[in-house]
Amino acid sequence: MSYVFEPEAVTSLAVAASPEQFAVRRVYCVGRNYAAHAREMGTDPDREPPFFFCKPANAVVPVVHGERATIAYPSQTNNYHYEIELVVAIGKAGRAIPVEDALDYVWAYGVGLDMTRRDLQSQMKEHGRPWEIGKAFDQSAPVSTLYPVSQTGHLTKAAIWLEVNGQQKQHSNIDQMSWSVAETISQLSRYFELKPGDIIMTGTPEGVGAVLPGDEIRGGITGLDEIRVLVS
Ligand code: MN
Repeated sequence: MSYVFEPEAVTSLAVAASPEQFAVRRVYCVGRNYAAHAREMGTDPDREPPFFFCKPANAVVPVVHGERATIAYPSQTNNYHYEIELVVAIGKAGRAIPVEDALDYVWAYGVGLDMTRRDLQSQMKEHGRPWEIGKAFDQSAPVSTLYPVSQTGHLTKAAIWLEVNGQQKQHSNIDQMSWSVAETISQLSRYFELKPGDIIMTGTPEGVGAVLPGDEIRGGITGLDEIRVLVS
């Protein structure tokens, strides 16, 4: 096989205590999965079914444990937001997965940032247009080293937090998610066949806000990892 253009290298994430990398296939994101965040976005936090959007795999910025990654302030925005999220890494193919079986499909967990051009997302929402320019841009998904379930077990309760320049902005617990990891996987797999390499960003708690060039974002989930990113 020869290609007209050399294919881009596969985006991959480090795996804790392993020399192997996790190749990213697709990035699925859950919208409004914490009631308090739904309220701050001006929507009714009732438990409507989860909804999904995607980012390209090559929008992922791997953030290796103990290191700080740098991401560029994106073009075309004046309101660039952080959203700290639990990342679920899928290790098994499946479709229409029952909730009871869904955790068997989780291979690892990690910490991610769903970076957002909030002004563009809001404009697109207003006009009923797709969210890509607000959500799926280059470097919009910094993701930590992954922690295999074989090492951590499944996470149901853990603090999730984010600081900007040392000041706390987001602080919640993953038990506040409207839809659990199992429910999210089950719902998502009704619409897409999940495959090893897929990652799911499971939504952010309240406290989202803007960052500017020079700001340092630090966030984490207790029992997993911290993620550290500089906006340049
Ligand atoms: Mn999000």
